Formats: sequence, structure tokens, C-alpha cells
Amino acid sequence: MSRSVAVVGAGLAGVATAYELAAQGLRVHVFERGGSVAEQASFASNAVLSPCVPHLDDTTSPAPLSWRWRRWRAGRRGGDAASALAALSQFSLARTAELRRVLGLEDESAEGLLVALVDARRMAAAQARLDGWKALGLQAELIDAEAARLREPGLNTEAPLVGALVFAGGGAGNARLFAQQLRQQAQRLGAGFRFHSTVRAIAADGAGLTLRHEYTPPAEAPTRTAGADRDAGDTHPQVPGPQDERFDAIVLCNGLDAATLLDPRLPLAALHEASVTAPLRMLEAHPDLGPGAAWVDPSRGLSIARIGHRVRVSGGTTVTQARTRVTPDFEALHRGLQHWFPGSVLHQQVQQGQSRRAMPADGLPIMGASGRPGLWLNLSTGDGGWGLACGAAHVLAQQIAAQAPALDIGPLGPQRLA
Ligand SMILES: Cc1cc2nc3c(=O)[nH]c(=O)nc-3n(C[C@H](O)[C@H](O)[C@H](O)COP(=O)(O)OP(=O)(O)OC[C@H]3O[C@@H](n4cnc5c(N)ncnc54)[C@H](O)[C@@H]3O)c2cc1C
Repeated sequence: MSRSVAVVGAGLAGVATAYELAAQGLRVHVFERGGSVAEQASFASNAVLSPCVPHLDDTTSPAPLSWRWRRWRAGRRGGDAASALAALSQFSLARTAELRRVLGLEDESAEGLLVALVDARRMAAAQARLDGWKALGLQAELIDAEAARLREPGLNTEAPLVGALVFAGGGAGNARLFAQQLRQQAQRLGAGFRFHSTVRAIAADGAGLTLRHEYTPPAEAPTRTAGADRDAGDTHPQVPGPQDERFDAIVLCNGLDAATLLDPRLPLAALHEASVTAPLRMLEAHPDLGPGAAWVDPSRGLSIARIGHRVRVSGGTTVTQARTRVTPDFEALHRGLQHWFPGSVLHQQVQQGQSRRAMPADGLPIMGASGRPGLWLNLSTGDGGWGLACGAAHVLAQQIAAQAPALDIGPLGPQRLA
């Protein structure tokens, strides 16, 4: 009989991991606290599919002192991790494109990723970094403001712009739609999804791993409107009270909450980010209102992406202790959108979102063997979680199935944080 693997969390990381494990012929069981896939960070995701570019922030915006210190320290210890991440992110973009094509996934995707360079200092710094990025295999190109405006004709002509960085393979899409469709493909391969199931603890003995989970239904039955948007029912009947089940392997894909299931706990802070989504204004006289794909402005700390007939802006990242709450500044996101794409959305129908992700001291994702036999981690941390999801899942599934992995992601393992 094939080995059984539990996946904890059904965000993009968990769904992609479930699909790749099932594709390896393993028996997969996904446990998700919420009522649907992609309800947390993956719901708020700004839809930008981007390679991970080391030092992009240093180049383009004056980062706060605490961040510069963290990056300096990570840079001293983690050059290998940054290279592994750059390679994984490119592999992952290619895997995402392959899954879209082979499985026929339709997630409102749009090709193109531009990073704004708003003054001469940032342009010069990007120029100085270009060869280093190319040495990492990143296909990066510098273009002037005129060329950037040709690629994104909806850009405000009054907004100061010196040029832009173009990264090949980048673009935008609807992360939630992608996760919902990939879940169906995983189920087609035999993966089971248990919603409203919270994993409380994981225990190991010589023979394998025991996972304690508990059915945690929502406090109120979903209303018709709220329920319409949810995935069809659970694929397993649920029993009240804590249940223990044994698995050959477990993959934690539950972001910041993974810390509570690990002993010793991982030292993780919380990275908060907010988003606003609004319908694009459709005017025949101005067909190019709004972004065509993904536009990133590190000087304002925001990303703007086209998702079908909507525009999503995200930003305002704040790092706090794991349990601290923050009040998002949604107005700053509206101002940023107005600055770059004025009048492009209908402000009456705006959706606001806020979510948090895990943030280790070096800001890099935590992926690979946990150090406890059979327990694996797939915790994306910074901004590129969607971009990384499919590649990381593919490599981890190969490792769990005892296949030769397509890439060495060893430097991204949790041991570096010890
Ligand atoms: C505002 C915002 C904008 C972003 N923009 C981008 C972007 O433009 N591009 C990009 O690549 N990335 C972006 N990201 C990051 C990206 O969305 C995430 O990294 C990505 O979605 C991966 O999410 P995940 O699956 O790791 O986590 P999540 O989507 O948060 O999923 C974790 C799941 O685990 C479940 N869970 C937690 N604990 C338990 C438990 N004990 N038992 C059972 N289930 C549990 C949760 O309910 C949740 O569904 C953005 C994130 C945010 C918040």
C-alpha cells in the first residue's frame, strides 16, 4: 500500500503540496481549519507572480533600519539561501505555467511584471545590481520610462518615473481561483480534503507520526450568500472531539500557525499586509485604464495587479510579534492606486482584506525536512508565496516520495534558524 501523508493547511502552499504528493502516487489527506481552500493569506494575495529577487528592496527603496540589519545578518550567513531561493522561484514560475497549461487552469492570468524606478538614484542602483541578478539566472531588463508607459499605457503621465525593471516569467493572476481549481485536480488524483478540521498536535514515536485533529465547525451556519462562495462539502464525515490518526509523513503548510505544532517552536514574527480590490472602470473611450498585469512600486511599498476585470492593490507591510494586531491603512493603498492609475476603479464596490504571514529573522521561506523524521515544512514567508508555491510543492513531494529532487532547497531548511 502507498504511504499516507497529511498536509496541514489548504492555502496555496497546502493545495499545491497536496496535488504534487497525489501526483507522486501517495495517499494524501488535507486538514484545513477553515471552510474552503485559500481563505487566509492566499485569499488576500496580490496576485503578482514574481521571481524572488535578492536586494530588490535595498535597490529601490530606503528600507527601515531594522530590516537593513536583518538583511545584513542574513546576507552574512545566508548567501546560499538567497541563491537557492532565486533558483526555486524561477523553477516555480515555470511549474505554475506548466500546471496552467497541462491541467487547463483558468485563473485570469496576465503576463508582465514591471518594477517602478521613480528616481535617478533607484535607476542607478538597479543598474549596478543587474549583472548580479543575471548571474543568479534571473532574466532582468532595465527599460526607460517611455518604454514602461508603452507596456502599461494606463500609467499616470504625471507620476514621476525614470524607468522600470522587467522580470521575465512574472505576471498576475487570481490566486484563489488557481487554488480552487488545483484542489479539484488533487481530488481527482485521490487527495481528501477535510475542512473545519484543526490540527492540535503532532507526536512522533519510532513507528511514525500521530496527528491530533479536531472538528471545529464555524460558530454560525454560513448564510446562503456567504455559503455560495464556499467549496462543496467535506470529503470525509466528521466526528466531534479530538481524533488521533497515524501518517507516514506530515507536511506543515499552515504559515505562522506552524510554530505552535513544532517542538522546539520556530522563532517567527508576523508580517501583516493589507489589500483592496475594486472593479475596473470600463470606458470605451479609455480602454487602457488600470494595469494590464503586475506593477510593483517599492518606493511606496505596494503592488498593483490586474485580476480579470478587477484591480487589487496590496501593501503596508508591518512586522510585529506573532499575536499583535495591526490596523491597516487602506487609504494609503487607495492613494497609491490613484497615484499610478487615476480613476481606474469604481470606488463604491471596494473589498478590503488583511492577512498575516510567518516571518523568520532572515525573511526567507522555511522549506524542507524539519529535523523530526517524517515531518516536513512548506512555509512561505515574504511576498513571493504564490510564486513559490508550485515549485516548492513539487520539490518537497519528490523528497517525500524518495525521488531525486529537481533542485537543492537544503539552504532554505529550518536548521539555518537554529
Ligand atoms: C495582502 C497580501 C498580499 C500578497 N501578495 C502576494 C503577491 O502579490 N505575490 C505572491 O507571490 N505572494 C503574495 N502574498 C503571499 C501569498 O499570498 C502567500 O505566501 C501564499 O498565499 C501562501 O500561503 P500559504 O498557503 O502558506 O498560507 P495561507 O493561505 O495562510 O494558508 C494557511 C492555511 O492553514 C490553515 N491552518 C492554520 N493552522 C491550522 C491548523 N492548526 N489546522 C488546520 N489548518 C490550519 C489556515 O486556515 C490557512 O487556510 C501576499 C500575501 C498577503 C497577505
